[in-house]
Amino acid sequence: MPAALWRERREPERVYARMPDAERAQLLRRRPGCELCRRRPSAAVDHDAATGFVRGVLCRSCNSWLGSMEAALRVPGRRMQVQAAYLHWRFEADGTDALAWYPGELAYLDMTVKRFADGLRRVRRLLPLPYVYWTASGQSVTRNSEWTKTGPLADAEEAERHHCRLRYGPGPRQVVLTAFEPDDGMNSPVPRGLVKTFTGDARSWFGGGA
Ligand SMILES: [Zn+2]
Repeated sequence: MPAALWRERREPERVYARMPDAERAQLLRRRPGCELCRRRPSAAVDHDAATGFVRGVLCRSCNSWLGSMEAALRVPGRRMQVQAAYLHWRFEADGTDALAWYPGELAYLDMTVKRFADGLRRVRRLLPLPYVYWTASGQSVTRNSEWTKTGPLADAEEAERHHCRLRYGPGPRQVVLTAFEPDDGMNSPVPRGLVKTFTGDARSWFGGGA
């Protein structure tokens, strides 16, 4: 669907924060289908975090993925946003080809591939400090994973050396992430940056279900 049509369907007079619950529920009843995938039932009133305006109604899955796409355009806060990091990883591996998978999403967000790519690059430039994080062997990554970290490291090459030493060294295999984080003095016990380099099959860690 052309971007102009999506825009037409939005209701910019509505400010999400000022909508009572009953009005949100009413909007979902009136617009029962997800306006992005057009397959699943609408479950959430979606709004633009920057302006507060309601953009449309989405199913749970599209709402969550759009949230991740927008999170990828922000410097990460206290915890790595896994799907946002996945987008950065795909972008690193395939450049703008990776973004060509999301024409509907980009149109819904009123963005071009170029603007979205510029946003991803801008976030990268704000993440100068490399860290290497790892978890104990045998664990898969969850919100409660216990991480150990090294860093900040001198540069990407040093990070890559630590990454390889941990991943391919003797002993049981561990989950190893190289995360780039902002230079703001926060000492976080979990990865909160975006994954810059990933050795191995990222899809197995990042869900692949984009
Ligand atoms: Zn949907």
